[in-house]
Amino acid sequence: MSVVAIVGRPNVGKSTLFNRICRRRQALVDDFPGVTRDRLTTSVEVEGRRFVLMDTGGFLSGDPTDFAEQTRRQVLLALDEADAIIFLADAKAGLHPGDEELVNILRRSDKPVFYAVNKVDGREQEIHAAEFFGLGTDRLYSVSAAHGYGVRELLEDVIAALPEEWADDPQDPDPPVRVSVVGRPNAGKSTLVNALLGEQRVIVSPVPGTTRDAVDTPLEWEGRRFVLIDTAGIRRKGKTREKLEKLSVIKALDSIDRSHVAVLMVDAVEGVTDQDLHIGGTIQERGRGCVIAVNKWDAFEKDLKRIRMFMQDLRDRFRFLPFAPILTISALKGKRVSRVLPSILEVFDQYNLRVNTGMVNRVLADALEKHEPPLVSGRRLKFYYATQPSTRPPTFVLFCNYPDRVHFSYQRFLTNQFREAFGMDKTPIRLLFRERA
Ligand code: GDP
Ligand code: GDP
Repeated sequence: MSVVAIVGRPNVGKSTLFNRICRRRQALVDDFPGVTRDRLTTSVEVEGRRFVLMDTGGFLSGDPTDFAEQTRRQVLLALDEADAIIFLADAKAGLHPGDEELVNILRRSDKPVFYAVNKVDGREQEIHAAEFFGLGTDRLYSVSAAHGYGVRELLEDVIAALPEEWADDPQDPDPPVRVSVVGRPNAGKSTLVNALLGEQRVIVSPVPGTTRDAVDTPLEWEGRRFVLIDTAGIRRKGKTREKLEKLSVIKALDSIDRSHVAVLMVDAVEGVTDQDLHIGGTIQERGRGCVIAVNKWDAFEKDLKRIRMFMQDLRDRFRFLPFAPILTISALKGKRVSRVLPSILEVFDQYNLRVNTGMVNRVLADALEKHEPPLVSGRRLKFYYATQPSTRPPTFVLFCNYPDRVHFSYQRFLTNQFREAFGMDKTPIRLLFRERA
């Protein structure tokens, strides 16, 4: 997902602008579970485009009285993390030497920067805005963050400058496998992505007709097409190294949403953390395929007992992802990196499986016979028939008399029976219970 940063001296109105943009249809957008909203970064949708908006004024570090230094750090942070930058100045305060310094830093970057003068609430301020032409920027936007004036025009231009994002063509019967690589900072995501792109038999497709950094990378391997999602974001290595946990979480969740299969990278040396489980939980919740890549295996002290304990613990903690194959790899040394794409394909091929209705019903009948459905409030739960209306992931609809009362343990039993009978042990599947039509 693209990131738009707002930079500028203190008090020019950054957080006012941030709030104005967020207020628009915010309720619809910030629907990622487990991500609390704060004033620093949030995902927003404007004109049908989704992006992360970042108020760099919130990231203060170092000496809290050294405003010049803090502002400079914000700008460096924005240059590291953002795809587009809004520079804000204050018409009421007038042109300030600090503005010129920031503009000089921004001008050296090749990222799109939009220069805006805020607090242009009326004609009087329009005149003040004029002195900012002295900054020598191509275009100057006059806005009033407090009243909304000029904000829409500014945003339209910002959105137009964001890199294109790939989307599935719904008409394509054989779409590329969309792969996200997710995990905690330092798990080894960028090392793995670089190793994959550097593999001999991997062909990285040229990006069609754009001069900007592409967000995603299309590639081919053994005649199969893949798209690595948000490669630009993964490979972009911050120089400022500020703590941007929330930004990385939002981006990871968005990448999961846009993928068929997520490669969840776990650091073998650090072990499984709550954040790993949180990301894994999202993969499960969103019904995406998953490959768990236990990375830095080269640095894991290997003795049989330790390995067995590690694996048992891993399976146990990720028990909500029983279908995810586990690979132990070393992205750095290239060990078993060549297993990653085949593993993704195995998952993806199951993710696409479709079973005919006759077969679904035979397997359902067998399951019912093997393990009779339990009573609900003294009455027998009855299943009539089942179909598979969709794939990605395989989704089954089971018609029955008490669709809301199918106990969780019986759902799990049926799920396991389906998985086994249809060869879907490596993909999530969904069972929906409906009243007979
Ligand atoms: P930040 O430090 O850059 O985040 O600035 P704030 O958003 O906190 O705003 C600083 C002050 O400027 C606050 O008192 C705002 O109410 C005020 N302000 C922000 N935008 C406008 C505007 O468009 N017009 C006017 N008149 N005041 C504004
Ligand atoms: P990211 O933040 O998830 O993208 O992680 P990086 O790819 O930047 O890796 C973080 C650190 O872990 C770097 O110092 C890498 O060299 C190191 N690293 C990555 N993969 C491995 C590995 O397989 N083994 C070891 N020992 N170190 C690794």
